[in-house]
Amino acid sequence: MYKEVSAQKKTPTPKPSIAETSTVTPSIDFTVSMSKPWTHLLEIEMHVGSSEMPQQLELKMPVWTPGSYLIREYARHVQDFAVKNGAGENLSWQKINKNTWAVDTKGAKEIVASYRVYSNELTVRTNELNDDHGFWNNGAALMFVKDQIKAPANVTVVPYGNWRVATGLPPVSGRANTFRAENFDILYDSPFEVSDYKEVSFEVHGKPHRVIMSGEGNYDLKQIAEDAAKIVEQGYKIFGELVYHDYTFIVNLRGGGGLEHLNSTALQANRFGFRPETRYKGFLSLVAHEYFHNWNVKRIRPDALGPFDYENENYTKLLWVAEGGTAYYEGVLLRRAGLITAKEYLTTKATAIKQLQERPGRFQTSLEEASFDAWIKYYRPDENAVNNQISYYDKGEIVNMLLDITIRSASGGSKSLDDVMRTLFNEFFKKGRNYSPEDYQKAAELAAGRSLDDFFSKYVRGRAEIDYNEIFKGIGLQLSTTTANPGKAYIGADLVEENGRVNIRSIPAGTPAYEQGLNTGDQIVAIDGYRSNIPQPASSRETFLQAYLNDKKPGDKVKLTLFRFDKLREIDFTLGSDQRMEYVFKPLADATEQQKKLYHDYLNADL
Ligand SMILES: [Zn+2]
Repeated sequence: MYKEVSAQKKTPTPKPSIAETSTVTPSIDFTVSMSKPWTHLLEIEMHVGSSEMPQQLELKMPVWTPGSYLIREYARHVQDFAVKNGAGENLSWQKINKNTWAVDTKGAKEIVASYRVYSNELTVRTNELNDDHGFWNNGAALMFVKDQIKAPANVTVVPYGNWRVATGLPPVSGRANTFRAENFDILYDSPFEVSDYKEVSFEVHGKPHRVIMSGEGNYDLKQIAEDAAKIVEQGYKIFGELVYHDYTFIVNLRGGGGLEHLNSTALQANRFGFRPETRYKGFLSLVAHEYFHNWNVKRIRPDALGPFDYENENYTKLLWVAEGGTAYYEGVLLRRAGLITAKEYLTTKATAIKQLQERPGRFQTSLEEASFDAWIKYYRPDENAVNNQISYYDKGEIVNMLLDITIRSASGGSKSLDDVMRTLFNEFFKKGRNYSPEDYQKAAELAAGRSLDDFFSKYVRGRAEIDYNEIFKGIGLQLSTTTANPGKAYIGADLVEENGRVNIRSIPAGTPAYEQGLNTGDQIVAIDGYRSNIPQPASSRETFLQAYLNDKKPGDKVKLTLFRFDKLREIDFTLGSDQRMEYVFKPLADATEQQKKLYHDYLNADL
């Protein structure tokens, strides 16, 4: 999938960068200032020096950042672009495509480009500057020189007021707030947080780690450090080493989510989401997820993911491993660290399975297809997603769990998915190679000691219904299903109350709503002539509509009054029966000693 523009002779490993046409590496220095943070404008100065400066120097903004597989067009936030030569004389320039500024260098050996980046969107892949802090991703703020992704760069930050600077980049000694990136892959992999943040440090196996907290909240920094250290320790136990020099967790206390980097991660969490304990465990899951990525995806790299093409989509069929496998290891690390119980672990998995089984889209899209189409689908779900898509995170987590159990069963407990991860780490990362879908299957087969082609063709490349119990029995478990709402009347649409209105958000295929012609976006005004949204007692979590349906049976007929777009209409509707299932893990009644042993190995608890 990875396009090589250069005509260089093929070198086996590592892959050459996008193109290397100049033999002279330019010197590139950035200064990032924030003199008026309340304007949300990061001020960038970019010095490029070269003894072989081209007549036309192309400066480019990435269109996406690794880890978040959507074209985001960061160039749209650039303003006030100007460029001078080393003597301070203006040079002319023009935009030649959406993300490229072409500078007429007139033979200058040094040019200084300046621009500002509007930064008012706090996500882990965008930039935010305001009177509280500055957080930015270099891929969304700093331009690269065409064909010079391998060039090193220095970044000097001029913080506002008394703010301090946190980043995973190493500091340049003797230069205040100046950091060094060996190349632009490293630069774009290293977000910055600049604020009056709180900080806690800890060591694991001699490696320094720190947690940077930007803002107030109900967190216990010492506790977070202790628990993060336990998570790091479990990662160490799998791979036998910590690959980085140091590691920084940057936490911003708004929104949610995380983005992985080689020696840091950017996390977001609700500032009051650290209590009660159940919510805190959700935060630790996020920590474990992003931390595990330092191996899985940042070093154990799928075919197309690195070196990166920052101007185009980078297609891979392996996000179900990169993301789904990491989602799977979240729970594994927390359980091994003793941060969740075996019961909590299994309950989470049962819920994930329930959600997958309620998606008709599981018959439309395979894990490999969902991975490949991430660029056009995953970050743009619409109302039809439930019917034509699955998430490579959610199904990927489940299938990696099933793969782990399959390997444990096939190898009599001597191997597990840890061995697969170790194989990829040692045989691919350490040898400078990326792995392919075939490599992943081979590594799994090596651990299992048998062919897994049936497993991969059904559950990874194919869209077969998963035979859970055939696999779970290997560790003495069965997934028991019962009808969640037996005998209950059911419309089948996913309803949401908005501004006192009952609206249809989505309609899974096969439900009565789907078969009888309700539409996403319909507003249900009344049922049998009664308003659908009569306020219910605060103690009730039901809508009036649901309370009314509770009194009905499957097969009963009702009259639905609804607005579709701007027109009122009535529909005679026959209620169906709710077929949705509850999923619970139960021990096999007649579990063998071997099954009990494998369960214990897996969850460090008795079956
Ligand atoms: Zn992830």
